[in-house]
Amino acid sequence: MKKTDARKIVELLKKAYPEASCSLDFETPMQAVVAVILSAQCTDERVNKTTPALFKICKTPKDFANLDIKELENFIHPCGFYKNKAKNIKLCSRQILENFNGNVPNNMEDLMSLSGVGRKTANVVMLEVFGIAQGIAVDTHAKRISNLMGLSKEKEPEKIEQDLIKFFPKDTLKDINHLLVFHGRNTCIARKPKCDKCIVNSFCKFYKNL
Ligand code: SF4
Repeated sequence: MKKTDARKIVELLKKAYPEASCSLDFETPMQAVVAVILSAQCTDERVNKTTPALFKICKTPKDFANLDIKELENFIHPCGFYKNKAKNIKLCSRQILENFNGNVPNNMEDLMSLSGVGRKTANVVMLEVFGIAQGIAVDTHAKRISNLMGLSKEKEPEKIEQDLIKFFPKDTLKDINHLLVFHGRNTCIARKPKCDKCIVNSFCKFYKNL
């Protein structure tokens, strides 16, 4: 794939999904961290149905740190893996209170030092809370489409991210995850991609080999 193709792919996807943006609902930086933690192995739709009751009473790291863990587990139960997620949210909120004066840190390294926060979560928080696209959050859609299109041969999200960062122009990084998520939900659907209707099929390795 040529470097010049990258901008064309972004332009086409933007035309197809002008509404592409983060689908998780939150109001505060800490709620953003919690929403992304809850979204692991769960749909954004389910997270958004689950969080309003919790976010009504918890807005800051202190609120989450003070909430009884059993109560937290009950709130987040529908999102799956609730025990582990509740443990991480409690630990993470305490770490923010103790190590960062109660403020969600605004750099990748500090974010990734928090319990339950991996590279994908840190990338989402950096972009959605602080407006800084340092990398590209590689979730299941970004991973699948990158492999199918031939943008990356790698299987590990961190390595795929590095390939995508090298391929896409810096000023488009903020849009890549959203565009791939929308493309994955609407067209490049797992197990039944609508290749004939796909706006970027002329750039896709999988399509060329059909
Ligand atoms: S051509 Fe098919 S496999 Fe390739 S990106 Fe489009 S929908 Fe996905």
